Amino acid sequence: MEFTYDDQNIFAKILRGEIPNKTVYEDDHALAFEDISPQAPVHVLVIPKGPYVSLDHFAAEASAEEQTGFFRAVAEVCRIAGVEGGFRAIANTRDDGMQEVPHFHLHILGGRRMGPLVVQS
Ligand code: 5GP
Repeated sequence: MEFTYDDQNIFAKILRGEIPNKTVYEDDHALAFEDISPQAPVHVLVIPKGPYVSLDHFAAEASAEEQTGFFRAVAEVCRIAGVEGGFRAIANTRDDGMQEVPHFHLHILGGRRMGPLVVQS
């Protein structure tokens, strides 16, 4: 599959500092910030700094260093957010996954019981 990155997406603008965000954690490989429309007491988005549109794009084409760095950042976010009781990680992907923003992001949701995995529509 071929992946095309649009650098005008809202998370690219956040990474460039053109749009403000409530940063939870940042390092060389990742930025984590609060979701603007939280669906749980903890709702943090973790994004890689590289131009990847989706989880499968990141998994297929990001370097080992980028991938390790990203998931270390996820661990740091979980520690900072204090989700010892558990959490849910979601990567909505393309149309069927109802992805809105075409820059790979992992939702970290916690602070309450999450309910069923998939809500029927
Ligand atoms: P998706 O459906 O692509 O997985 O989720 C995109 C998420 O980004 C949504 O939960 C939405 O609330 C969040 N979001 C959209 N625009 C902004 C923004 O400008 N700032 C922040 N912090 N979150 C945003």
